[in-house]
Amino acid sequence: MPRFQTTAVHAGREDFNRLCVHAPPIDLSTTYPIPDLGTGSASFDALIAGGHDAANPIYARLHNPTVARTEDAIAALEGTQACVAFASGMAALTAVLMARSQHGRHVLVVRPLYGTSDHLLGSGLCGVEAEFLTDAGQVAARLRPDTALVIIETPSNPTLDLVDIRATVAAAGRVPVLVDSTFATPVLQRPAELGATYVWHSATKFLGGHGDVIAGVVCCEETHAAPLRTMRAATGALLHPLAAYLLHRGLPTLALRVEAAQANAQVLAQRLAEHPAVSKVFYPGLPGARGGHLIGIQMSGPGSLMAFEVKGGHDAAARVMARAKVMTAAVSLGSTDSLIQHPAGLTHRMVPEEARAAAGITPGLLRLSVGIEHVEDLWDDLAQALEG
Ligand SMILES: *Cc1c(COP(=O)(O)O)cnc(C)c1O
Repeated sequence: MPRFQTTAVHAGREDFNRLCVHAPPIDLSTTYPIPDLGTGSASFDALIAGGHDAANPIYARLHNPTVARTEDAIAALEGTQACVAFASGMAALTAVLMARSQHGRHVLVVRPLYGTSDHLLGSGLCGVEAEFLTDAGQVAARLRPDTALVIIETPSNPTLDLVDIRATVAAAGRVPVLVDSTFATPVLQRPAELGATYVWHSATKFLGGHGDVIAGVVCCEETHAAPLRTMRAATGALLHPLAAYLLHRGLPTLALRVEAAQANAQVLAQRLAEHPAVSKVFYPGLPGARGGHLIGIQMSGPGSLMAFEVKGGHDAAARVMARAKVMTAAVSLGSTDSLIQHPAGLTHRMVPEEARAAAGITPGLLRLSVGIEHVEDLWDDLAQALEG
């Protein structure tokens, strides 16, 4: 079996010699010539039932070879049979919720999590009845006969708590567990190996890696993937083949980017923890971090996301954001460049105020997605911004 870095470079490219190409071909067809009606009808049936491919793609809402190539590559990195790609991370979550709703309405969700996930689940928009927990240890006691899914995010957003995947899977019993593994990437964590049924990524972040593609993926076994493809074909939340191409292009450098950013983050987190203008740093690699003992067990390293609280609350945090020059004041994460943002004012605005406070999302909290710039340039930038 090739190692991760080799798979990242070659997955989804196995047929290149046969095709005599050195970059993935992009198929922009919306419809496909049907060789004979029998083949067409059989292919249609196979794809509507959620099959991975068929003799004929029929129509681009049912199948696209460029997207399928990217899916195969990501499945290889997560170690799952399948990957299903969507127009965005939120479209991917919606498809899972809709597919699971046939098994029950009740969904257990451990907070904190990505603000829009929190909003989608709490709003009842997809017909789910979400019950929010503050600790994954509460899962076993809250299960109901109609519980269809357990959702965790680890590391969590924005306070970087690590949630024990194996323990949550054990507590959930027969109920599938979905892990939002966006912050970890398959370089640092592979939830399916720990028993998670669905591994979800906003591929907009590290997998794409360059801030130029919106995409979402769910990695799982084939039996769970088929209903997601059926849902995608029915609702049309497709990843465009050009976006799939860009996403695929990000994968060969994934490990390099994640490791370089993580090395930078470790230095910055340590220095921020000692800075007089900073009251608290949330980073799984610092002593005392919530779930930090899971580093080396379920996650090989602490990653490159952190949050820190500045003294002086909202106004002080706004000043730091405004003074950053090398870092861009912007939401999103996992790009080659460093991004700094204010969760209470931006990404977690839709989360109810009490839930924000309980999760540690205070007015002075900033979240930093560390990029792959030179670490001393990043530190100089942070230091001058904190002096303001
Ligand atoms: C960005 C993000 C999402 C949502 O993904 P989109 O691609 O923006 O729809 C979900 N979870 C996490 C942790 C994210 O960072």
